Amino acid sequence: MTLPNGFLDRLRQLVGAPNVLIADDDTAKYRHEERGLLTSICDAVVRPANTDEIAAVVKACVAAGVPIVAMGGNTGLVGGGVANGGVILSTERLNRIIEIDALNNTMTVEAGCVLADLQKAAEEANCFFPLSLGAEGSCRIGGNISTNAGGVGVLRYGNTRDLVLGLEVVLPDGRVWSRLNGLRKDNTGYDLKHLFIGAEGTLGIVTKAVLKLFPRPRAKVTLMAALRELDQVLVLFDRIRNACGDRLTAFEMIPELGIELVTRHIPDTRDPFAERHPWYVLMELTSPRSADDLRGEVEGALGEAFEAGVVVDAVFAESEAQGRALWKLREEIPGAQTREGGSIKHDVSVPVSRTTEFVRLAMQAVIDEMPGLRPCPFGHIGDGNIHFNLTQPPGMDKAAFIARWEDFNRIVHDLTKRYGGSISAEHGIGLVKRDELEHYSSALDIELMRLVKKSLDPNNIMNPGKIFVV
Ligand SMILES: Cc1cc2nc3c(=O)[nH]c(=O)nc-3n(C[C@H](O)[C@H](O)[C@H](O)COP(=O)(O)OP(=O)(O)OC[C@H]3O[C@@H](n4cnc5c(N)ncnc54)[C@H](O)[C@@H]3O)c2cc1C
Repeated sequence: MTLPNGFLDRLRQLVGAPNVLIADDDTAKYRHEERGLLTSICDAVVRPANTDEIAAVVKACVAAGVPIVAMGGNTGLVGGGVANGGVILSTERLNRIIEIDALNNTMTVEAGCVLADLQKAAEEANCFFPLSLGAEGSCRIGGNISTNAGGVGVLRYGNTRDLVLGLEVVLPDGRVWSRLNGLRKDNTGYDLKHLFIGAEGTLGIVTKAVLKLFPRPRAKVTLMAALRELDQVLVLFDRIRNACGDRLTAFEMIPELGIELVTRHIPDTRDPFAERHPWYVLMELTSPRSADDLRGEVEGALGEAFEAGVVVDAVFAESEAQGRALWKLREEIPGAQTREGGSIKHDVSVPVSRTTEFVRLAMQAVIDEMPGLRPCPFGHIGDGNIHFNLTQPPGMDKAAFIARWEDFNRIVHDLTKRYGGSISAEHGIGLVKRDELEHYSSALDIELMRLVKKSLDPNNIMNPGKIFVV
């Protein structure tokens, strides 16, 4: 877009010249799009250092009519950080941990803190911050909050929304809204922070947050079980949860194809079993009490599952390194799929009780549509979230496969809806799922969302065109 005269100089005055990037090489990493599906164009990347600078930049953008895309670690998977002209506002310089209150079990942080740094800081204070996902080494907490990120601990600790007690946000007119309290009880009118959590930067820029901390896990067991039948995945889940309660913190499903692709394409990975099995479950159990016999508990439940024919084999991690190796088999599935060729991805959720039935029907439906296609459904089945990914048939042209994405959307998302599910479990809507949201939402849903957007951002300055068109 054509920027008004003097606009870039104004930004330089506000944040310092080195923090206004305009050269293609300098802005490339901010225009990168994780999935490689979309092109991002921006006139400048601005890197403010604090809330006041962000507020001043927003006011300058409003005055000049320049749109703003907020950015954290740029690991989002739905194109929410893709700009179409205007300014990308990076939060990377807001990276201070302001306070850890161990007695209150809270941590007050700036939005640009990298998630892994927060986990580490919590641990150093003898506490635990449970949000955990594959991108934790680069995603930033403001991005996690703005996408309401899920990850592998949702079963026990909930989504990001459940981990946020307080928030500070620069509104689309440049005013600062601050409710940075660490209260677990606060019924003073509407709980406005929830408007901004999961809003994907369309309602304002998150600048600070108060996060919930938990007692540090002192006992941990990681194991992988092999199963013959898809339906047995839920039977096993029920047995382990009944035996171990909320000590079961992760329950991830992996299909045979997942193990095959990861061990073929990703260095330093190996199948921990002597032979291949149709389905696997990766489980983690933790407890804040080091004396808890987690292994004994889970072995007891597994032994019964084995005798009942639910499980055919299992391996336990005997060390941290072995635990990480098992997790790598799960985390690397999307990367291995990319190396294998074209992959079409869906991030859906259905009620936990219907997950395996959904997966079976969806697999059949996509294979009927394209014989030879290889479904690779995996993910957080313990909270009902399935990454229903499809790997192209061997030898098929990648572009021709990807061109069928919308057809597969219709098949998978129609079935998701029939099962009472969501077409976006944890990644958000951004640009990639905007049309799908319109297709599957009620008119009233969209009307209410537009009302919220228009009342907070009448100039449509904050991440325009994301989630829905105003
Ligand atoms: C390998 C890998 C694994 C992943 N695993 C998971 C997973 O298990 N669960 C999951 O939920 N996601 C997962 N993701 C997706 C992604 O990591 C999350 O969506 C993450 O929360 C995004 O954080 P970010 O800092 O990278 O945000 P960005 O990509 O920078 O931004 C995401 C969205 O939030 C907005 N935004 C960013 N910062 C702010 C702010 N301060 N204020 C307002 N808006 C803002 C952006 O405009 C954009 O719309 C994964 C991604 C990768 C690459």
